[in-house]
Amino acid sequence: MTKLIFEKSVENTQGVKITDETVDFSFINSKFLNQNKETILPELTELEVMRHYKELSDKNFCIEKGFYPLGSCTMKYNPKVNELLATLEGFTELHPLQDDEDSQGSLKLMYNLQEALKTVTGMDAMTLQPAAGAHGELCGMMIVKKYFETTGENRKNVIIPDSAHGTNPASAAMCGFNTVEIKSNEKGLVDLEALKAVLDNNTAAIMLTNPNTLGLFEEDILEISKLVHEAGGLLYYDGANMNAIMGYTNPKLMGFDIVHLNLHKTFSTPHGGGGPGAGPVGVVEKLKDFLPVPTIEFNGEKYSRNYNVKHSIGKMKAFYGNFSVLIKAYAYILLMGKNLKDASANAVLNANYMMNKLKKHYLLPHDRKCMHEFVLSGDWQKEQGVNTLGIAKRLMDGNFHPPTVYFPLIVHEAIMIEPTESETKERLDDFVDTMIKIAQEIKENPEEVLSHPLTTPVRKVDETLAARKPDLAYKKA
Ligand SMILES: *Cc1c(COP(=O)(O)O)cnc(C)c1O
Repeated sequence: MTKLIFEKSVENTQGVKITDETVDFSFINSKFLNQNKETILPELTELEVMRHYKELSDKNFCIEKGFYPLGSCTMKYNPKVNELLATLEGFTELHPLQDDEDSQGSLKLMYNLQEALKTVTGMDAMTLQPAAGAHGELCGMMIVKKYFETTGENRKNVIIPDSAHGTNPASAAMCGFNTVEIKSNEKGLVDLEALKAVLDNNTAAIMLTNPNTLGLFEEDILEISKLVHEAGGLLYYDGANMNAIMGYTNPKLMGFDIVHLNLHKTFSTPHGGGGPGAGPVGVVEKLKDFLPVPTIEFNGEKYSRNYNVKHSIGKMKAFYGNFSVLIKAYAYILLMGKNLKDASANAVLNANYMMNKLKKHYLLPHDRKCMHEFVLSGDWQKEQGVNTLGIAKRLMDGNFHPPTVYFPLIVHEAIMIEPTESETKERLDDFVDTMIKIAQEIKENPEEVLSHPLTTPVRKVDETLAARKPDLAYKKA
């Protein structure tokens, strides 16, 4: 067990000694100074501090350590050259308020990235500002709202399938829309009849993920977009699953008006634990004047920031978005070029390979060709005494990051597996074999399976207590 840094503290130890003189703080107004002499800070040498944090970082699971099949999150390999390029001085030393004239290189990068993402999505205009997928959804819903304000229509409803990511209804609700949930059909797809039943002149938009969160391609996508447009609504495309279709089709061809991408998923920038990310939003021509300011433009000679956009929803983020993420995504796109298409093909192939090997051992509720991910149910194993959480915990002793569990909500005991394109057949086999072994262990000795994980720094935690009464602060005994 690693000790806390406070427990390693030795009184009167100093880290670095910069000067012998005591610092004179008289220039600071005393009301801003901490008068509490009891401030508890750990006392260690610089070397011991480094060792402490290195030890902690070694406990992290990361893509560099092992397979990370976290469904919906696209934990693919992030080429290290992206990092190198993002640390170039020309980028890191540039102040965000520097004149356009002095920022031509960075503006060009943003402009070119916008153009590349327009090609991938088929959209007519793009903003790079939103900081994540959910932030992109918020941006998109704000555009929908402002659009209907300018047309003078008071449309209040946003339709969302029951398979959607929770951020979809949250984003719509934040903009004051009513969310209308529609049930999926037995094939795991949008039920056209259920859709028709809720479409009317109160429909502002539908938010759809395609392939959906079950990893299934919405076969009736063209019929869906036709119906929604005929009712006068807009179509919002949650592009979190773009990794399945890059270069093969795009949201524009499917009839969508607004789309967000998750650069930290599809376009290979490291993420986890909440960031950093980027959620660019693309729109069709008629929504171009609603994008956040500034837009990044090019007049054939110079790149510039334009703050004068007619119906702009305003600003989504300080400055121009998470710029370092944009650099990495652009580097990745240049590196891949036309092979982006192969990334999607391999992601889909890998998922189908695993799905077909596992479906004899775990219930597969929607047994159809999948896209880049698939969703199993742990129902058979639960009957034998081990639920999906138990399976996830057991996997942690095999040097795997567990898959996404209990999402999407419409599958009991869901186990959502997304291998991505970057894994070798050997890695996929290794994971599949372990899953099959676990299914066998559950048949033979469910109690033993439930005792895992045995090798992780922290064993099973009390999930209720951890959520309700998190104990995060050090208090001196
Ligand atoms: C990840 C994800 C989101 C949210 O994206 P963030 O970048 O995490 O905010 C939305 N929808 C789907 C389907 C996702 O997988």
